[in-house]
Amino acid sequence: MAENQYELMIVGTGPAGLTAAIYAQRLGIKTVVFGDTPGGNIYMIENLTNFPGLTGEVAGDQFGATAFAQAKKEGAFLPMTRLTLLSHDGEQFMGIDSNSRQYFATSALIACGVSPIRLEVPNANKKGIFYSSLRDGPSFRNQKATLAVIGEGRLAAQESLWLSRFAERVILICQDGELKAESAMISAVEKKENIYALLNTRVVSFVGHDKIEGILIIIKGKEKKKIRVNGVCTAIGWKPNLEMLKISVQTTDEGFVKTDEKLMSSFPGLFAAGDVRDTDMRQVITTCADGARAALYALRFLEGI
Ligand SMILES: Cc1cc2nc3c(=O)[nH]c(=O)nc-3n(C[C@H](O)[C@H](O)[C@H](O)COP(=O)(O)OP(=O)(O)OC[C@H]3O[C@@H](n4cnc5c(N)ncnc54)[C@H](O)[C@@H]3O)c2cc1C
Repeated sequence: MAENQYELMIVGTGPAGLTAAIYAQRLGIKTVVFGDTPGGNIYMIENLTNFPGLTGEVAGDQFGATAFAQAKKEGAFLPMTRLTLLSHDGEQFMGIDSNSRQYFATSALIACGVSPIRLEVPNANKKGIFYSSLRDGPSFRNQKATLAVIGEGRLAAQESLWLSRFAERVILICQDGELKAESAMISAVEKKENIYALLNTRVVSFVGHDKIEGILIIIKGKEKKKIRVNGVCTAIGWKPNLEMLKISVQTTDEGFVKTDEKLMSSFPGLFAAGDVRDTDMRQVITTCADGARAALYALRFLEGI
């Protein structure tokens, strides 16, 4: 087989992509995996407590690094580059990576996960606006910081609880009239004395010079107010990372890739696994299961051509 010619090209080194790589190599499929973050988004998980068998404290980044090493040990090629383009020339898949190198494969798997949705208001790129409190929260420790969390779902509740460990005050800004999360999580938020919820409140803009200093808000559609903050966690949701995909596939209205029961997208030979897929659960365990199954169905596809 020619150099840069593979049987399976995987985009993403998260749990879905790495599991697929481990299974694919063990099934005898020559595999290349693109991605520059071993473990993908799981570096944001402090301790992976809901994965069967991991009873001790296993940090997400540790889990990711181990899975990355395991995929490498099985023989997958991991160039540690991102794919800037994935297309199909009528015969096979063609990828170009961030080093401008071309790669070819008979099948492909998009396991490229999701990225946070950014709030579209003025100054949304200011320093001090972040998307993972697990990663950025500890930098506010012992600083008597006031932090805001924007969002009204489970994610916002989770981020508020985590930040309440480091900040003097957490202001949870919800556009709706209520927090939409499991009752246990809502009561945990309510019990925290340093979390203050502002309901029916809309963010108009962020304020600050070099970095964020405040937020302009409108409460109940009437009262305009500026609150001072030292940092903001935006927790309004996530969108699929599909910018590199130059192949037309069916997606949901939100852009998640639709697959059949064998995890194949509407384009023959192109599979999808993990958070990027139209699925009902986005957790490490379900993305790993997707990866394993996608490798098996990629083999069936390769055997059929
Ligand atoms: C804050 C937070 C806490 C969480 N807590 C838990 C938890 O406690 N338990 C649990 O089970 N799950 C948890 N999850 C969910 C879990 O992290 C995800 O379900 C899982 O990481 C998804 O795996 P994935 O492989 O589909 O995608 P990802 O982990 O997102 O990995 C995809 C990777 O592909 C990369 N990529 C994107 N585009 C390209 C490209 N063009 N080229 C190369 N690479 C690309 C991305 O940068 C990313 O590194 C949490 C998620 C977050 C955000």
